[in-house]
Amino acid sequence: MRSRPVVTIDGPSGAGKTTVSKRLAEAAGFVRIDTGAMYRAVALAARRAGVSWDDAVPLGGVARELDLSFRTVAGAPRVFLSGEDVSDTIRTPEISMGASAVSAHGPVRESLVAKQREMAREGGVVLEGRDTGTVVFPDAEVKFFLDAAAAVRARRRQLEISPSGAQSFEEVLRDVLRRDVRDSTREHSPLRVADGALYIDSTTMTVDEVVGEMLRRLPGVPR
Ligand code: C5P
Repeated sequence: MRSRPVVTIDGPSGAGKTTVSKRLAEAAGFVRIDTGAMYRAVALAARRAGVSWDDAVPLGGVARELDLSFRTVAGAPRVFLSGEDVSDTIRTPEISMGASAVSAHGPVRESLVAKQREMAREGGVVLEGRDTGTVVFPDAEVKFFLDAAAAVRARRRQLEISPSGAQSFEEVLRDVLRRDVRDSTREHSPLRVADGALYIDSTTMTVDEVVGEMLRRLPGVPR
């Protein structure tokens, strides 16, 4: 029995999971686990080790040996790979595609899901990703599926990754749609709404409204 709940937030790229999960974890005093960052780190580690993003078995080894940690630096969550801060390196368009590619392989998912279960065992956590409520914690106490129209998601992603205008809106939208198709049609843990999840469409909602809606489902957490 967990003394504090496990909260899961799944949904497609750009739905607002990162912003919302940070705010929710802060409000509840929970730890946030960004599972997407773990798939991104595998893509980066594989690239550096010269392992192809299509090679399931060696990729499983890269995932198993991943030396990853989440730390807060100057109030902001950062991701460290073998002691190096890779928070920005894992957010490039190339590594985004790499993460989507490596995450389709069973051996990679098995390793990372085991790590995620271990990290969240005691509860008091918010996990964000694609399969956190369906596969990682099907028995989570509180589950959400956060969605938004594709054009809105692409706009948010563009503001996040390329304020310098390095990628046009059309390019970002194309990448978002490609990742959507790949993430929701793959054989292992495709993106879908978990049983018992509350579906929230954030297309016309503010961050405050989404977080408020979520906090209403978290008993015992002051709003
Ligand atoms: O959420 P984020 O965009 O950082 O995730 C990067 C990629 O990692 C996604 O496109 C998806 O393919 C994969 N992913 C996954 N399962 C998760 C989290 C992310 O397959 N739980």
